[in-house]
Amino acid sequence: MKNSKLVQYYILGRGSFAKLPELLEQRIKENQAKGSVLVIDHFFQGKNILDLSFLTASDLIIWADTTHEPTTDYVDELADKVKTALAQPSAIVGIGGGSALDIAKAISVLLTNPGKSAEYQGWDLVKNPPVYKIGIPTIAGTGAEFTRTAVLTGPIKKLGINSDFSVYDQVILDADLLKTVPHEQFVYTAMDCFVHNCESLLGMQNDAMTIAMAQKSSDMIKEVFLGEMDHEKLLIASSMGGLAIANSNVGICHPFSYGLGYVLGLHHAFAICIAFNQLGEYYPEVETFKKILQKNNIVLPKIITDDITPEQLDQMAELTLMNEKPLSNAFGPDWKNVFGKDKVIELLKRM
Ligand code: NAD
Ligand code: ZN
Repeated sequence: MKNSKLVQYYILGRGSFAKLPELLEQRIKENQAKGSVLVIDHFFQGKNILDLSFLTASDLIIWADTTHEPTTDYVDELADKVKTALAQPSAIVGIGGGSALDIAKAISVLLTNPGKSAEYQGWDLVKNPPVYKIGIPTIAGTGAEFTRTAVLTGPIKKLGINSDFSVYDQVILDADLLKTVPHEQFVYTAMDCFVHNCESLLGMQNDAMTIAMAQKSSDMIKEVFLGEMDHEKLLIASSMGGLAIANSNVGICHPFSYGLGYVLGLHHAFAICIAFNQLGEYYPEVETFKKILQKNNIVLPKIITDDITPEQLDQMAELTLMNEKPLSNAFGPDWKNVFGKDKVIELLKRM
């Protein structure tokens, strides 16, 4: 039985971003330390959306470039930058979608643990407690604000720093920060959550908490995308999806998305949609997913075209099959007997 770590505190409500200065001040008093690091998605740079007037010369802003998903090299570079600028920051704040939230988590680990981020990709490899961190999502769906992983693309594969030390200490859920998300991005990222839920619910590793959270999260996503848009509801659905995955694992869709993402550079949520669309034989909720896309005027392109070389296809299949934990969650410990490379390639060709 697992001893599950949760986020200690959260604030929910429109306008709650305004609570950030107070929280940071409290940290500085408790720690006798100076200066916080804010890792903010570059979308917000030069725009007057976030009120950052409370920052002083002791604080450091890092505009996280999320054009591509975070790599271990990028995170190492940012952590070095922080170490040079601030000896011991009192807090790290991640503000953005899953990418910025994961970058902030990884930096907070690297500030108190030696070496490079790739050394911590895996399960429970982080030894020293990280710098205190606050997560503030500006897109709903990944649930990264509540999970114990910081997903990074490393030299060999895409894998998270899965650790209790990757869990945020404090979360701020302010639906006002979601206003600027483009509609397509909203749908793709929310579908990542929808798929996490399906994979948790139909997987072998789950418990009553996971089932309750994942079911409710999926219901809320359906209400939002087949009914009326409600940013706050979406934030909660995402949070519950993140909490649900804590006691379970992903399944068949995520391994495909990692292969597609690694070889073709597709963004995670988009790759998830491309893959899930072809997994109807495993997940009955693909029907609902298709309805959501239709209602939201999203037509998915065909990604695996004649331009894809047999070598690329083979690499994608190999990368999919490297995900032993998710695949054994989906099919059981003997998954290799029922889910081989031929089947993976057959499915990939449909995507
Ligand atoms: P993202 O963070 O990659 O951002 C997507 C785009 O939206 C970027 O261009 C960004 O600049 C922009 N953006 C962010 N906030 C915005 C706003 N309020 N208005 C307008 N534009 C905005 O997207 P995502 O789907 O949230 O995150 C994907 C990443 O999360 C992937 O790297 C994936 O692997 C990771 N992930 C992590 C977890 C976890 O538990 N840690 C779970 C699922 C996915
Ligand atoms: Zn995902």
